[in-house]
Amino acid sequence: MGKQPIYSVVIPCYNEQEVITETYNRLTKVMKDLNEPYELIFVNDGSKDDTANIISTFCETDSSVKLINFTRNFGHMPAISAGMEKSKCQAIFIIDADLQDPPEIFPEMIEKWKEGYHVVYGKRIERKGESFVKKLTAKVFYRFIRSLTSIDLPLDTGEFRLIDRKVCDTVNKLPEKNRYIRGLVSWVGFKQIPVEYVRDERFAGVTKYPYRKLLILAMDGITSFSYKPLKIATTFGIIISIASFLYILYVLYHYFFNDIAIQGWVSIMAAILLTQGIMFIIQGLTGEYIGRIYTELQNRPTYIIQEIVGED
Ligand code: UDP
Ligand code: MG
Repeated sequence: MGKQPIYSVVIPCYNEQEVITETYNRLTKVMKDLNEPYELIFVNDGSKDDTANIISTFCETDSSVKLINFTRNFGHMPAISAGMEKSKCQAIFIIDADLQDPPEIFPEMIEKWKEGYHVVYGKRIERKGESFVKKLTAKVFYRFIRSLTSIDLPLDTGEFRLIDRKVCDTVNKLPEKNRYIRGLVSWVGFKQIPVEYVRDERFAGVTKYPYRKLLILAMDGITSFSYKPLKIATTFGIIISIASFLYILYVLYHYFFNDIAIQGWVSIMAAILLTQGIMFIIQGLTGEYIGRIYTELQNRPTYIIQEIVGED
């Protein structure tokens, strides 16, 4: 290519053989129209299908394509991290492989970047083709996590964004292993601005985020940026303890001063089951934090690269 590229596009891919060719074509069209040198960094996150082979064929004919192959499936966030660490460009786009986020708004993002913004993030004003439950849980989650943290986490925003070199360097230097990228990018500050867009349906294939993975992502997001849940647990504990203490006084009063036999089975069962339930939740919650401390202490890499294809 000769000239050092200005723009990188980081595309995490996991079992995306149905869409990846279309993704490559659409991205290439958008990037060529910009008339500036660019590179596409596909990160194959241990796909079990033909994704890696298909991308390798792009590398053979197109010197702007790079492919990072992981040794196994490490996850969406590690895949994005690998792309961000690989890129040396002035501005870095992050986009999913499934074309739910339109690359056609890159020029609009670039305009904002040239105006001096360091992060231009896509804000979804509508989500097409996703189930009511997914939309609702997403909406509730974004608002919930925002209410828990003190940093300015934008609502209805995924990973789709442009980030400046400076932001990329800063985020890359953060040592934590639980990488909730959108949170980290908000956390580092700089000048950030949204551009609104309509989130499309997946072009093809199925979601790689079953509810189990979404839940882990949600917990990562919350535990990385807030320990308010622990404070809430403490408050809960105090309230329940006070209530229990008052109730014990009431029971003792009956025992000593009234001769009525207390029929307490239902209330005892209710109290035990309720407090036990709450105790388990609080223990689990504490465990979530401890587990994450453990992961950080182990200090293993977030991902392992098997090979990089298409490097100059
Ligand atoms: N992805 C990944 N590793 C995973 C799961 C997902 O690299 O373990 C990629 C996937 O290929 C896609 C992006 O992350 O490019 C978002 O996944 P998906 O579109 O399935 O999530 P959804 O949009 O349904 O939340
Ligand atoms: Mg998607």
